[in-house]
Amino acid sequence: MAPRIEKLLIDGQWTEASGGETFETINPADGSLLAHIARATAQDVDRAVAAARAAFEQGPWSRFSPADRQALLMRLADLLERDAEHFARLDTLEMGSPIRHTRGSVAMLVDLLRYFAGIARSIEGTTNAPSDPGLFACTVKEPVGVCGAIIPWNGPLWASVLKLGPVLASGCTLVLKPAEDASLAPLRLAELALEAGVPDGVFNVVTGFGTEAGAALATHPGVDKIAFTGSVETGQQIIRASAGNLKRLSLELGGKSPNIVFADANLEAAAQAAVGAAFANSGQVCSAGTRLFVERPVHRAFAAEVARIAADLKIGDGLDPQTDLGPLVSARQLSRVSTHMEDALAEGAQALSGGARLSGADYDQGFFFPPTVLVDAHDEMRAVREEIFGPILATLPFDSEHEVIARANATQFGLGAGVWTSSVGRAHRLSRALKAGSVWVNCYNRIDPAVPSGGVKASGQGREYGRQHVEEHFQLKSVWIDTAV
Ligand code: ADP
Repeated sequence: MAPRIEKLLIDGQWTEASGGETFETINPADGSLLAHIARATAQDVDRAVAAARAAFEQGPWSRFSPADRQALLMRLADLLERDAEHFARLDTLEMGSPIRHTRGSVAMLVDLLRYFAGIARSIEGTTNAPSDPGLFACTVKEPVGVCGAIIPWNGPLWASVLKLGPVLASGCTLVLKPAEDASLAPLRLAELALEAGVPDGVFNVVTGFGTEAGAALATHPGVDKIAFTGSVETGQQIIRASAGNLKRLSLELGGKSPNIVFADANLEAAAQAAVGAAFANSGQVCSAGTRLFVERPVHRAFAAEVARIAADLKIGDGLDPQTDLGPLVSARQLSRVSTHMEDALAEGAQALSGGARLSGADYDQGFFFPPTVLVDAHDEMRAVREEIFGPILATLPFDSEHEVIARANATQFGLGAGVWTSSVGRAHRLSRALKAGSVWVNCYNRIDPAVPSGGVKASGQGREYGRQHVEEHFQLKSVWIDTAV
C-alpha cells in the first residue's frame, strides 16, 4: 500500500498545507517510509489560531457546561479504549517503542482522560471576606483561552493526550504542533476527537517543522498559553518568542536525573529498577535516571549486576512482543547518542555493557543502540552532565549522604530523583534535600493521573497531571459587589 499523505486539521476540516509541501515520517526499526506529512506554514498556523479563537469565543464550545465537557472526555476515553491496539501499534511503528510499553501507555492515557473528566466537574472559586462589611467579594475561574502545544517525539500519543485533556476539561481550545518525527498518533487522536464530538476549531493539529510552524505558534499574538515539552534550548527560544503578548507558559524540559542507591537498600529491587529507570523507551525519557550514584562499598558489584540485567534485554523491532528495547527514533538521534558514547570513552569511562551502535541483518536498516552501563565515569564528563536521550547510564560511587546530595544537585536540571534506602529517616532527609520536581523513594519514574509532575530549575515550570494541571488552564477573576447600592 502506498504511504498515505497526511493533512492538517484546521477548524474541523482536513486540509493541505498552504505551501503544498510535505515531509516524510519513517519507521526507525527498518528505515521504511510510513507517510508523507503536511508541512504547515505560518499562514496555516494563523488559520488554526483563528479557528481556535472563534471556537473559544463564539462557537457551541463556548456554551458547553462542565457536565458537557466531562461527558465529552468520557466519550473520548471510551473511543481510545476501543482503538487501544491501533494506537499502541502506531506509536511503536513511528517512534520504535516496544509494543508492550505502548500498550501500557494507552491504557494509562484512557485512565488519564477519565481523571480529567472528573476534574472538569469540580473547578471552584472562593467567597472572600473584605473588611468592609458592605462588600461582597468572590473569585471565579475562567478558561485562559487559546492554547498552543508543542510536543516532542518520545511519546507522541502520550504528549498529545496530556495536552488535550486539560484543554477539554477547562473549556480552552488547542492548536497542537507535533514533533517532526512523530505526527501520526496526534493526527489519529484528532480523528477520534471529532468522532467523540469535539466541536470544530476546538482541537487543531498543525504538523510541521519547529522553526516554522512551531515558531509561528510560539510568537502568535492570538495564543494565550503555550505548553511545551522538549529541550532546554528550544524552551528558551519559546520563552523569548512568547514575550510579545506575555503568554502563560508551562515548560517540561530535559533532565539528568540522579538515582541514588545506599548500601542498606534492597539491592536486588534497586538494580532491576535502575535498568528500567535508565533504559525504558531506549532512554528517550525526560526523567530517565541516568546518573546512578551507588555507595562505594557496593558500587562495583552493583554496576556489574545492572550491566548483567541490561545485557539480557532483548533489542529489536518494537512490534515483536518479546522486544524489551526498540530502536532510537531517528538517524539524527542515533548519531547524537553515538557521539556522546565516543566522548565518554575518550574521557576515560569504560562500558560494562553495550558501547556502540548495533549492526547485523536485524539492525542495519534501523537505529539500534544497546543499553550501556558506564563505570570509571566522573561528574564532569560531558556524558554525565548533558542529557543524552539514549540508553547510556553512568554509575558513580559516593562515600556519604552529604556528598551525594551535593553531587546529585550539582546540575542545571531538576526533573526527577530516585533514592534507595531502608532508612525512613534518610528517605525523608533526601526527599527534602534533592532539588527535583519528583522524588521517588524505593521506586522510580512512577506516574499517576492524580500526582503532579514537572521540573525545577532548567527542567521547567508548571505541573502536569493532578488537579494543578487543569487549574493552570484557568485564570482567576475577582468580582466585587457593593451591597449598599
Ligand atoms: P529535539 O531536538 O529532540 O527535536 P526539540 O526541543 O527541538 O527537541 O523539539 C521539541 C519540539 O519543539 C518539536 O515539536 C519541535 O518541532 C519543536 N521546536 C523546535 N524548535 C522550535 C522553535 N524554535 N520554536 C518552536 N518550536 C520548536
